[in-house]
Amino acid sequence: MTRPLPNDLDAFWMPFTANRQFKQSPRLLAGAKDMHYYTPEGRPILDATAGLWCVNAGHGRPKIVEAVQKQVAELDYAPAFQMSHPKAFEFASRLVQITPEGMDHAFFTNSGSESVETALKIALAYQRVRGQGTRTRLIGRERGYHGVNFGGISVGGIVSNRKMFGTLLSGVDHMRHTHDPARNAFTRGEPEHGIELAEDLERIVTLHDASTIAAVIVEPVAGSTGVLVPPKGYLKRLREICDKHGILLIFDEVITGFGRLGTPFGADYFGVTPDIMITAKGITNGVVPMGAVFVKSEIHDAFMTGPEHLIEFFHGYTYSAHPLACAAGIATLDTYAEEGLLTRAAELAPYWADAIHSLRDTKHVIDARNIGLVGAVELEPITGEPTKRAFSCFLECFERGVLIRTTGDIIALSPPLIISKGQIDEIVGTLSDVLKAAA
Ligand code: PMP
Repeated sequence: MTRPLPNDLDAFWMPFTANRQFKQSPRLLAGAKDMHYYTPEGRPILDATAGLWCVNAGHGRPKIVEAVQKQVAELDYAPAFQMSHPKAFEFASRLVQITPEGMDHAFFTNSGSESVETALKIALAYQRVRGQGTRTRLIGRERGYHGVNFGGISVGGIVSNRKMFGTLLSGVDHMRHTHDPARNAFTRGEPEHGIELAEDLERIVTLHDASTIAAVIVEPVAGSTGVLVPPKGYLKRLREICDKHGILLIFDEVITGFGRLGTPFGADYFGVTPDIMITAKGITNGVVPMGAVFVKSEIHDAFMTGPEHLIEFFHGYTYSAHPLACAAGIATLDTYAEEGLLTRAAELAPYWADAIHSLRDTKHVIDARNIGLVGAVELEPITGEPTKRAFSCFLECFERGVLIRTTGDIIALSPPLIISKGQIDEIVGTLSDVLKAAA
């Protein structure tokens, strides 16, 4: 497990990282097994973030490792257009057995961001194919995170991800976000207050007219922006408003998919089925990059039966349904099924909720939120230095052997679904100690 640190850290321009700062004191991970990472020196780090919300079955799972090894020796790559390979069909068929009722078709991508772009393009193309080509507008939400490509940052609502990149896509509008700490701080699960925020979609429809709107995209639980759990009834109400106006509802389930909330998908948790569902991350347990967009049959079938000149969906990636990703994905689904991982978060959720909310009276904590096996602890910002407190906390937790994640002044936790109660205690205990020790 011991490997030397690379002596030249300069060539790699790291994503979403303050490179200069990082390279002064780099944090590297050289190995991983089950709930732990290992530093190049062999120091274990308890993974409280499932990598980046993706390693749902834990690290180094033998079945997945073997499947990828076998696949690369057997068929390393197959062209993705006008051709395919058996595991692509097998994996899609396996996936649609666990997706919400009626979401029977999968379009493969290589990441969450690509799934987002794919979903937006499917929505626009579908509106044209069904003869509603004036519906070109896309509606996102403030604080939404939908990856980093142009469609995603346009419908997304995180200012720092948008401000450097010009005017973005035209014809996009945003609903208000649902975060309301004044009324909902320290809520366990879904907040009581805020269903009326769904009516913001009616405001937008009134402003632009339904005939111009193709789709609405939201994360069932907004993750990367700091774990914002939707108010009770909010998603159902969005569904009703979309139905009333013929607008497609897209759920970005990149984080909420594959068991994170204790159900296979967020749609199952909230009892609301979207028209299009975006996934990635847990689809292969993070082992090989992959994403998939699921659509209702009527959307898929419109492309199969529509006018001849429109039936090909002119979209796809060289690595769509890559053999290694499909092999990893099938083994991931097997692992999830054998170990009951798609519902395990539901069993652990009460214990997890107690643990997260035990931090309520800890120094600097101004809110705590939880749902399934996701938690967030929001810290009081330091005046003039927002984000510093949470980031210091991240650094100190890493020193003490626990990997957490921060966004702004919010600490986000989303451990692998194989976590034990003892490990939940270890995460929260470390966090509590670090917060108490913080200046
Ligand atoms: N959508 C959501 C909701 C996400 O959380 C993420 C990644 N955190 C993405 C899209 C983008 O996924 P990727 O980084 O794989 O492109």
